[in-house]
Amino acid sequence: MAVLDFHLHVGTKHHWNPWVISFFQENNPEYIKRFVDEITPVELLSYLDGQAIDHAVVLAEYAPLATGVVTNEFAGKFCSQTDRLIPFGSICLYQGTDLAQQAEQCVSRLGCRGLKLLPSYAHFHPYDSKLLPVYEVARDLKIPVMFHTGTSIFRGSRIRYANPLLLDDVADEFPDLSIIICHGGRPFWYQEAQWMLRRHKNTYIDVSGIPLKRLPSIFPHLNRFQDRFLFGSDWPGVRSIEGQVRLIRNLPVGEKIIEAILWENGYRLLGLNS
Ligand SMILES: [Zn+2]
Repeated sequence: MAVLDFHLHVGTKHHWNPWVISFFQENNPEYIKRFVDEITPVELLSYLDGQAIDHAVVLAEYAPLATGVVTNEFAGKFCSQTDRLIPFGSICLYQGTDLAQQAEQCVSRLGCRGLKLLPSYAHFHPYDSKLLPVYEVARDLKIPVMFHTGTSIFRGSRIRYANPLLLDDVADEFPDLSIIICHGGRPFWYQEAQWMLRRHKNTYIDVSGIPLKRLPSIFPHLNRFQDRFLFGSDWPGVRSIEGQVRLIRNLPVGEKIIEAILWENGYRLLGLNS
């Protein structure tokens, strides 16, 4: 069975703020040892081999106030030599470049296959009028947009922008745009995130950063919406990706649901061949 990690960060101490690196020091000593000074595609792929991960979505990030900056150029170039790594661009609100143009160019020039936005880290409402042209581009290019939702312990975060219900406006206005609710609104807004799945057929939940053992009780309609959950690790925020995969495999749900979460839904969304 293939595994697609839909939520993985690449970066080093040169990209992330000191308090993020301290978090990794406490939670992922192996990352500190092997990758904190430099991360290369070859080394990451060999790490992913060891974790039995076939494909990974690699996320750019423009969040200097909270976590740091991983540019679209870095993510795009990092993934350019292999089809196992799938770059997702982000939108920088600070450089004065047209936002729709940033979205278009990260796809056309850098090969990005989706976008990741971080409202609580960059302090914006997901339905802010300046973002709407970005969603139009994503819809027209048929690429999904991920949104960080739920809590974060990092300094500089504004959690009020992290409620999944703020995506209701976006999902309603752009019914043909695929929207991924990262972390399912952990932990205050699980219900809201699940309600979004019911209300909008174009929404998905990426289960990274959620206590996976409790997934069926957190989302009682997991079975009903089994085609809309995506596995993600949030590595290097977790010690091992394989450990997260094992938690999914051990869920007391049918094999079909496990496969749907671990790869099938993500492959379908990204148009990958199984
Ligand atoms: Zn993340």
